[in-house]
Amino acid sequence: MSRSEKIAKMATTTASQAKQNSTISKKRKKARKGVLFEAHKHCVECSIPIPLSNESLICDDDDCRINQERKEKSRKRLSILLYVGIGIFIIPILIQLIGALN
Ligand SMILES: [Zn+2]
Repeated sequence: MSRSEKIAKMATTTASQAKQNSTISKKRKKARKGVLFEAHKHCVECSIPIPLSNESLICDDDDCRINQERKEKSRKRLSILLYVGIGIFIIPILIQLIGALN
């Protein structure tokens, strides 16, 4: 392959790449403009769309509220257990340190 041929090939590949990139960005722009992409969030339980203005993470459904409360409780229990576990590990070390200092 000659030098000029190589250059020509490189030019065409970059041109096609640029074309591809531009079509991708066009698609992205279209998606951004789309009405479907209106700002909203989803209920964490049933994942139906809810308005962003809604303060809670869930919809108005009672089942979702109950499930969410249950999850919240178990999460709190888990974090308490975690702290207790850390305490169980750290307290003997602290006692030993204090003993070593005295
Ligand atoms: Zn829901």
